[in-house]
Amino acid sequence: MDIIREFDPWHDPLCTCPSKLSFNPYTGCAYRCIYCYVTSYVPRAFECRIKKNLLKRVARDLKRVDKRRVISMSNSSDPYPPIEAKLKLTRACLELFSREGCRIQVITKSDLVARDVDILLHLPSVVSLTITTLKRNLSRKLELRAPTPKRRLEAMKKLSDAGVPVSLRLDPIIPGLNDGEIERIVEAAAASGAEHVTSSTFKPRPDGWRRVQRAFPEVATKLAPLYFRLGKRHRNSWYLSRALRFGLMKRVREACDASGLAFASCREGLRELTTGESCDGSHLISNH
Ligand code: SF4
Repeated sequence: MDIIREFDPWHDPLCTCPSKLSFNPYTGCAYRCIYCYVTSYVPRAFECRIKKNLLKRVARDLKRVDKRRVISMSNSSDPYPPIEAKLKLTRACLELFSREGCRIQVITKSDLVARDVDILLHLPSVVSLTITTLKRNLSRKLELRAPTPKRRLEAMKKLSDAGVPVSLRLDPIIPGLNDGEIERIVEAAAASGAEHVTSSTFKPRPDGWRRVQRAFPEVATKLAPLYFRLGKRHRNSWYLSRALRFGLMKRVREACDASGLAFASCREGLRELTTGESCDGSHLISNH
């Protein structure tokens, strides 16, 4: 099976991502974010596994893909799990991508990405760091094993100072948990060199909802009617009402405007708020 595949989020008409390819150097993810939707389709999703013959398979796939297209890594795992510090498999893939003249989007919650600044500097690329809260304790409950928000911001600054374009994924916003921090998170990312923000509201699937219920029972009790009575179901996910989602995304957009950052929402159907040239920040690659 191909290891570099078409990025296709379930043919979702709400996805506005430019056409791109998707690549996961690891299978499964050790970070165990409670809101993660990957658990709904990846078996043993919270166990990070190595792929057999990874580099051989990447080299084989690079012979057939159009190298002008962006390769996004990763969409169903994190390309910088803790074992990457020792194994350096993602680093080896980046070296290969660099030699082959590829264009790369890195999406991660790990500051380990800054280790690879030497390669990223010479590889047309953008790094998107996800930050959902600046509060260490909340982050520990939301994203159990992921590096702290402070470390992610430091990585963002290190990369942008070196000249690698960076963007922020403020994603997802869960009302009652992190919506009070929207403006502070955008300001912190702007101060760390981010040029673009992609944001979205929490769109629970049954397994993610159960994890949120277990971790934050009081918040879940307040959220349940907002999703399951006043919200709507889209494909396999539940959405807040359009009015609530518009209000939250408008706040992110206004915070971006105040800090001079471009903005786009992800799978919200709110194109009217977009100021970025792409929703996913991949337009920054060409500025590299
Ligand atoms: S880092 Fe991403 S893939 Fe990994 S558990 Fe968190 S949301 Fe899921």
